[in-house]
Amino acid sequence: MKYLILVGDGMGDFPVDELDGKTPLEVAHIPMIDDLCRKGEFFLNYTVPNGYPPGSDVANMSLMGYDPAEYYTGRAPLEAAAMGIKLAPDEIAFRCNMVTLDHGAGSQVSMRDFCAGHITNEESHRLIADLEAECATEQFHFKAGVSYRHLMIFKGEHPGFITVPPHDYIEQEVTDHFQKYLAQPEWKTLLEKTKKLLANHPVNQKRIAEGKNPATMVWLWGEGKMPSVPTLTNRFNITGTMISAVDLLKGLGVLGGLSIVNVPGATGYIDTNYAGKAQAAINALKNQDFVFVHLEAPDEAGHQGSLQDKITAIEDFDARIVKPIIEDLRTRNEDFRVVVTMDHFTPLALRTHVSDPVPTLLYDSREQVKGSGQSFYEKSCTEYDAVENNSIKAGHKMIEKLLVHK
Ligand SMILES: [Zn+2]
Repeated sequence: MKYLILVGDGMGDFPVDELDGKTPLEVAHIPMIDDLCRKGEFFLNYTVPNGYPPGSDVANMSLMGYDPAEYYTGRAPLEAAAMGIKLAPDEIAFRCNMVTLDHGAGSQVSMRDFCAGHITNEESHRLIADLEAECATEQFHFKAGVSYRHLMIFKGEHPGFITVPPHDYIEQEVTDHFQKYLAQPEWKTLLEKTKKLLANHPVNQKRIAEGKNPATMVWLWGEGKMPSVPTLTNRFNITGTMISAVDLLKGLGVLGGLSIVNVPGATGYIDTNYAGKAQAAINALKNQDFVFVHLEAPDEAGHQGSLQDKITAIEDFDARIVKPIIEDLRTRNEDFRVVVTMDHFTPLALRTHVSDPVPTLLYDSREQVKGSGQSFYEKSCTEYDAVENNSIKAGHKMIEKLLVHK
């Protein structure tokens, strides 16, 4: 038996006026997913526990079968896992964004740009290397990631302040948040040295000359210790692979004991290498039991508020990810059980995530259950669920429904 979880990130949405009150998922042409849904089980899954932010980290942790209430420590440790960084028990990983801050009168600070103009790898890696050489201490170390997204590894007791994501404060004042770091003597020293190094750095002088936002500061947030989770191999006696363009998902895969495939050209956008991702899943299923395939593109379209891109991303998910993988399993006469779902909604109207329960289908190729008879979209699932009353209230239990069966 082969097992699959196929995730279209942020596919869910609210009714859209331009679509006569339908959703992108409802109007999208997704014949393979609809067919699996009609012949399979169909239910709502609560991927975001009460009191948790509807982040991709929390929601995908649920989909991987880990209760966020038990295992979620922050986004940064998941990214550290993806980067192959091992944290000691007394170390805390912080996401380290390259940002552009504006300093006004007195101590006033505002967030001009949470990503320093999408600074390139080449530029930011030079900055991180120089920060590590000039500003690192026994307590603070910088690790280079991608573009503006890096990590700072801190050794010691958590300083106790609450951090905030910089993308929540675009063009807003962040004085109070910035002051929290400065209230701690070692952190103040670190940030003052950082500010000085960045202010005179040739990389930034060149960016300013080119009319681009310089990286004037690092913004530290999303921190946590490395969670210790049982692998899926230990829990369910399966081997598997994670296929995603996103570090967060790769990190979850590492923690879950899955193999990680880096697909060339997997970008996280609608231009991603669909064929490469589908082929990676097909290859993995030749000698492993399980794949988790994650497609970021519908979420990105939701954040951009682009209706057409969102529909395109959902249709591509069906035609270029789900269909080729399922067809290959059928060609090889493999029995399989597949979940098609999303982690959360990213409604176009809000351009951010919400924590509504997500429509989910579970199809077993042996077709021993009475199928739902439904097409796959939000309202059909809500209405069907109201009759069948089979929703999964604790999202991390869904994987048991997939993997533990007759
Ligand atoms: Zn997501």
